[in-house]
Amino acid sequence: MTTPSSGAGMSKEAWLYAPECLDAASDDFGHLIRRRPAAVCRPGSAPDVAAAVRRAAEQGMPVAARGQGHSVYGRAQAEDGLVIDMSDLNAVHAVEADRVTVGGGATWRSVLDATLPHGLTPPVLTDYLDLSVGGTVSAGGLGGMTFRHGFQSCNVIELEVVTGEGEVVTCSASAHPELFDAVRGGLSQYGIITRAVLRLVRAPERVRLHTLSYPDHRAMTADQRRLLSTDRVDFLQGTIRPGRQCVVEVGVGHSADSPPDDEETLAGLSDLRDRAERVDLPYLELFLRLSKLENHLRAAGTWHHPHPWLHSFVPDAAADGLAAELLADVTQEDLGEFGRILLYPIRPGRVSSPLVRLPEGEVAFLCSLVCFPADDPLLVGRLVKTNRAVYDRIRAIGGHLYPVSAVALTRAGWKDHYGPLWPAVEHAKARFDPRHLLTPGQGMFAE
Ligand SMILES: Cc1cc2nc3c(=O)[nH]c(=O)nc-3n(C[C@H](O)[C@H](O)[C@H](O)COP(=O)(O)OP(=O)(O)OC[C@H]3O[C@@H](n4cnc5c(N)ncnc54)[C@H](O)[C@@H]3O)c2cc1C
Repeated sequence: MTTPSSGAGMSKEAWLYAPECLDAASDDFGHLIRRRPAAVCRPGSAPDVAAAVRRAAEQGMPVAARGQGHSVYGRAQAEDGLVIDMSDLNAVHAVEADRVTVGGGATWRSVLDATLPHGLTPPVLTDYLDLSVGGTVSAGGLGGMTFRHGFQSCNVIELEVVTGEGEVVTCSASAHPELFDAVRGGLSQYGIITRAVLRLVRAPERVRLHTLSYPDHRAMTADQRRLLSTDRVDFLQGTIRPGRQCVVEVGVGHSADSPPDDEETLAGLSDLRDRAERVDLPYLELFLRLSKLENHLRAAGTWHHPHPWLHSFVPDAAADGLAAELLADVTQEDLGEFGRILLYPIRPGRVSSPLVRLPEGEVAFLCSLVCFPADDPLLVGRLVKTNRAVYDRIRAIGGHLYPVSAVALTRAGWKDHYGPLWPAVEHAKARFDPRHLLTPGQGMFAE
């Protein structure tokens, strides 16, 4: 089963015990959960990762890979275990016409930096590029192009993975497909991604971005459904700022010398047209908007506040009702000045990562509470409790968690999350990580 691997093979498997290394690995972007590992290592190749996993196994230690540490609920932490910092496995190899090979610790920003000069892009990008390929492919990874192309995990051609047995395996739709299907969107329970071959498509030079305002969320989702059904845009999202604003963001890619026909893009929409805004951006800029907010919040000293974010997928028919309930319960003050509710449609049929849980039906909505609250433990504790209540509501209406959220699930909760897929999940765990070493932060197999 062992295959040639990435990396030059120079051993970098030394374990680090310095307090500052352990402190850093005990925290994440959420600042909600702190679990201290016994050791951290920073491998330089897949064999290094495999050796580290095997050594941890000998000592019975849990193991978590850490990409960019942008989890919000301790998912890359391993109490008394080993945290494998993937940041040196960040190579971006030669760009080919339809693919690029990258290390599992590479960021999407570094991927784009390499592909855009060739006029190419991954089909789906997240709203923030400083996330690692391994971190998002193992969760799913979605954004404003997901309605058309699925998740990032659906746009992977091949993966090199270190299993919980410490074996290096190259998998794809045709080689070791069970591992390939388990790892993509599998929440890091079956293997650590050390290398990924990512699909590429032509990148538009520019994007015309329309920001359309609505009097309420029902008018907003009605237009999103309209846009989805006519498939006339390349990027589609929507956000609500409670009591303030409901907006749809619509992007159309184009070349510098042939701008799109705005009338065609906006035909039949019911937005408050006198409030519509339009900008023309270089393609890359579309994905730097959250980084600009990051710079602002860093300058204000608030980027390091806790982030109890919740992300979910809800059935089309329940989306408007859920949004109404959220708007009755959650205020802009709760979410913080820059917080928002994300609400936009995706097509479950375009998602080909079997372990990503989505509602049935042709259309589903991403519904997220993205907050930037004050650093106030009482408020943050209340928001985490709200997440739980909202999640219970989401389950009741046939929705699913996007498990990059600040919601704790027990084994029973995971069983409910996976529903009919739970036996396949248990089977994959028994096959690829029989000692249950990998990624304890999800609590998926905890007794
Ligand atoms: C500002 C911000 C914006 C975001 N925007 C989006 C968005 O637009 N769309 C979206 O889908 N998500 C988004 N997310 C969520 C994000 O995709 C997940 O939290 C992701 O897991 C973070 O990646 P990371 O590299 O920081 O991973 P980490 O936090 O380091 O790890 C996350 C999980 O992945 C595992 N992991 C890390 N590396 C690997 C690897 N190489 N192989 C296997 N498992 C690994 C870890 O063990 C952990 O369980 C956002 C998060 C933040 C903080």
